[in-house]
Amino acid sequence: MNMNDFIAAMPKAELHMHIEGTVSAAKVLELAERNGVEIPYTSEAEILAAQDYGFPALENFLDYHYMCSSVLREGRDVFEITRNFLNKCLVENIRHVEMFFDPQQHIERGVSFDELMDAMTTACKASDVSTGLIMCMNRDRSLDSAIEMLDLAGKHRGDIIGVGLDSYEEGNPPVKFQEFYYRAREEGYRLTAHCDCDQKDAVKHAHQCVHNLKVDRIDHGLHVLDDPELIEVVRSREIPLTMCPTWRPSDPEPRRLMALRKMLDLGLPVCLNTDDPEEFASRYLTNMMQSVQQDGDFSADEMTQFMRNAFRGSWIGEEQRTAHLTELEAHLETYLQQK
Ligand SMILES: [Zn+2]
Repeated sequence: MNMNDFIAAMPKAELHMHIEGTVSAAKVLELAERNGVEIPYTSEAEILAAQDYGFPALENFLDYHYMCSSVLREGRDVFEITRNFLNKCLVENIRHVEMFFDPQQHIERGVSFDELMDAMTTACKASDVSTGLIMCMNRDRSLDSAIEMLDLAGKHRGDIIGVGLDSYEEGNPPVKFQEFYYRAREEGYRLTAHCDCDQKDAVKHAHQCVHNLKVDRIDHGLHVLDDPELIEVVRSREIPLTMCPTWRPSDPEPRRLMALRKMLDLGLPVCLNTDDPEEFASRYLTNMMQSVQQDGDFSADEMTQFMRNAFRGSWIGEEQRTAHLTELEAHLETYLQQK
């Protein structure tokens, strides 16, 4: 078994991916046609070329992302993309995945909260992959809208494991949603929030996530490295950092390799994730991990450490966690013995 095979066959977990970012270029065109949605692309090549946007990266990415997800108009569409993604997880040897969904944008396009939940849970229950759904609030929308989503989520409480925060970060600090997070915690949801890369007030926002929102996890969290106090809090509270070393078509290598190395060396609970696998050139977990390993020169044990951190940081039961970690260690052991 060579390193690429070792990574391909590794039992995996993924904690940071958005179901709306799993619509392939072909599927975007198919759904645009089926639902009569006008989009500015006429071919797969045009859609893929649009993934090579420039700076500001987050804003340009989000504009592209919302354009592609605008083709999702019915529960059936959401069911299909969820099913397709979970089938892909089987090929990737992903044992457990925690999926973000953005209810506000679906509701705006005419898919009700109940219809949305029905579409995703039907696909999840039919799959052999273990799944958790995380309801993500768009931070550029209002606190009232987020609270309204919590109300709608009430009857689906058993199917939603946690809540998160995503979208345009500038001008939308975590504290804007303090009341939402307080209530979500009271209702028993696990808490996470995006602290995106290279954002204005990034360190301040990370502090707010940890101290005001009291999150259980941070999505990305690159800028934790910029502050010794944050490093200490994340390490002592074992707050998982769901980093996404994705890349655009013309990027020479995965982004954030230096940060990943530093986080591992500091003993921070960092794991690897694809964010929006159909919208970055990095695509799915195996491909991304193989490039990270090669370009970042990580050892088999270090690649396993990223995955230990993912299983440890996941919101699954202890029994399930132990079983996955045992399988993961056995996989490393087999590789090291054969080497
Ligand atoms: Zn994300």
